[in-house]
Amino acid sequence: MTARNKKKQKIKIIRSIGGMQKLSREIIARGKKIGLVPTMGFLHEGHLSLIRRASKKSDIVITTIFVNPAQFGPNEDLDKYPRDEKGDIAKIASAGSDIVFIPKAEDIYPKDFQTYVNTMEITKTLEGKSRPNHFRGVTTIVAKLFNITRPDIAVFGMKDYQQAAVIKQMTRDLGFPIKIDIAPTMRESDGLAMSSRNKYFSESQRWEAVALFYALRTAKEMIKAGEKSTARIEKEMTAVIMATCPKAKIEYIAFTDFSTLEPVNKIKSNVICSLAVKIHKVRLIDNMKLA
Ligand code: AMP
Repeated sequence: MTARNKKKQKIKIIRSIGGMQKLSREIIARGKKIGLVPTMGFLHEGHLSLIRRASKKSDIVITTIFVNPAQFGPNEDLDKYPRDEKGDIAKIASAGSDIVFIPKAEDIYPKDFQTYVNTMEITKTLEGKSRPNHFRGVTTIVAKLFNITRPDIAVFGMKDYQQAAVIKQMTRDLGFPIKIDIAPTMRESDGLAMSSRNKYFSESQRWEAVALFYALRTAKEMIKAGEKSTARIEKEMTAVIMATCPKAKIEYIAFTDFSTLEPVNKIKSNVICSLAVKIHKVRLIDNMKLA
């Protein structure tokens, strides 16, 4: 099917697990390659870039919208997580997805649900340390979506790098025959990483959210100038964040190996810096490969 024909087709909206399983089986029987893009909705250009990427790498793209209760902690923002199903479906269709799968929480987690997927070491640092059980929720839903949609390739964003690394590990460990593809982070013109949570900021607060990007850019510049000590880089990043947003609460600034996510003290090759910062009560994360 040419890209042109593909655009003209109406997007299929599937809400039942059985309906999705049946459709995936039919697509596979027709010899088509399925690309999966899991999301929690309230889509922005970052999500749409994943759909476009999946579209180039597969024949049929399935985008999912599911605000996954299992990955939110008791004091997190599940209830106020932004939603816009109608707007999302229109965006998903325009980005070239063929199917949107929108399951109900009670179908994904029925009352007698009791099986979780837990990836071990790689979930103990960074986000896993700050948010207990978060990754257990992520790997459980992604494994379930893999089983329901049976993709050949699944696309995740670099924006949530640890999540992508955890999913890669789970995919390998459980033997899913799926390629995990990691797409670059899309940013606003000032550098702020696009995120559904950015809508929580008032106009006057919004510009302070760029603090995370400024800090990462500072790290990159210091390394370019020859700095090797992560302690000195972290100190400077902290200063940049506090200068941009004096009320910022830094949860972590971490330098880790790109593959294993184990901490590093001296900059060498293959280092990624990740950070989580609360700006006016909105918890933001970002990262950048430094070397
Ligand atoms: P979410 O809806 O926040 O769970 O995100 C769904 C997918 O979109 C995940 O794979 C994210 O990493 C990815 N994503 C979120 N923000 C961005 C961004 N700014 N650029 C690229 N991908 C993103």
